[in-house]
Amino acid sequence: MFKQAWQHELFNALFPIIAGFLLAGSLGYWLEGLTLGLGVALCLMLLRLRALHRWSHEQGPAPQDNGMIGYSVDHIIRREQHLKKRLEQQQKQLQRYQQGIESLQDGVVIFNEEGYILSFNSAAATLLSLRRSDVKQHILNLIRSPHFVQYFNSRDFHQSLQFDFNQRSKRSLLVQITQFDVDKVMLVRDVTERKRVETMRQNFIADVSHELRTPLTVINGYLEMLSDMSLPPPLAKAIQQMDTQSQRMKTLVNDLIELSKLESLRHGDAGQWFDLVQLTRGVIDQLQEYGVNQLQLVHDAECEMLGFAEEIRAVLTNLTTNAIKYGGDEPITVTLSAQEDRIKVSVQDLGPGIASEHISHLTERFYRVDSSRESSVGGSGLGLAIVKHALEHHDCVLDIESTLGKGSCFSFVLPAQRSRIGIKANTAEPNH
Ligand code: ADP
Repeated sequence: MFKQAWQHELFNALFPIIAGFLLAGSLGYWLEGLTLGLGVALCLMLLRLRALHRWSHEQGPAPQDNGMIGYSVDHIIRREQHLKKRLEQQQKQLQRYQQGIESLQDGVVIFNEEGYILSFNSAAATLLSLRRSDVKQHILNLIRSPHFVQYFNSRDFHQSLQFDFNQRSKRSLLVQITQFDVDKVMLVRDVTERKRVETMRQNFIADVSHELRTPLTVINGYLEMLSDMSLPPPLAKAIQQMDTQSQRMKTLVNDLIELSKLESLRHGDAGQWFDLVQLTRGVIDQLQEYGVNQLQLVHDAECEMLGFAEEIRAVLTNLTTNAIKYGGDEPITVTLSAQEDRIKVSVQDLGPGIASEHISHLTERFYRVDSSRESSVGGSGLGLAIVKHALEHHDCVLDIESTLGKGSCFSFVLPAQRSRIGIKANTAEPNH
């Protein structure tokens, strides 16, 4: 095909030249004949190129040409058909993806780097009350909840955000933003029902715990009174056991109340600045009464934090109490250190440690590594759940590192906007 095209091309070019040369030459005009032949060949070539030009600009039919032009045109037509087919297939695939996204029950909003909406599906339109004309609008013009604005502006999308979209409609939404290429995709889920059930659970636990507190206080009081009296040994032993168990129940009820308070609490503001070193020192002093371990506070800087002192006190008390309860008799170190412009707080013990399979479950309510051993040390199984929630209120997460036989380190890093660090010489304050 290619060879034939070349042969025709040569014939097309040479035939007028030779014909002109021979015809005019037989009459004695060789040179004029050659010039005439070249001129005709050139004109024919120009006509073919014109046909090619018109076709390529979609102004005429494909040129009927048996030379290289015709060959190339056939080639281009075949390639075009192939590309059209591929384009159709890709369009169909794209349509299927769009239909898939459209049929999702969760909302999907795609927006660009700056936050201008590129597209969204029907579920997003319903959940966020968007209209088709909202494409190209900035997302913050359409979702004005302060929690969402803060989440969006923080540009930290590692975690999802739950917020009340509309106070009037009382709709609670869970959003998660993910970066892809230069754009972002936001998944929106309606969690109103889930939140309602969760609130019911929290209220139920809080109500029951409150109701249990009064009778328990009465029982505790009587048991304390009875244990002070001189009773026959079997009765004294029974009273002592009842006292231990009712103290455990009291701890459990108090922890449940604390936890439901933390779970339901949504701080409107960031809290207040307070001296973290002083607060930690206070917690350590208070826990000295356990008296078994050496408690040590290490801080390489003056640390102030923005937050809720009582919640951070609960965090430090729970972590240090656990280190005392489960950390054996080895020394315990509470460290406040500066990590660039952020404060890191860690509680380190040199106890038996925790097997890695338990670590991710420790902050679940009532999770205990060894319930038989732990009931003897008297925990409620809620301490780390309380820690987790209190830290969430301060935009940080609990990190747990532990090696069996070597000890555990529970730590968290405060965000820069909650940390204020002053330079100070290295200090270690042992406590006994
Ligand atoms: P509890 O009230 O039982 O102490 P927590 O929620 O505070 O409950 O802790 C959950 C479990 O984590 C504990 O029961 C214990 O098994 C384990 N744990 C917590 N801190 C330590 C630690 N420092 N060393 C070893 N195990 C720990």
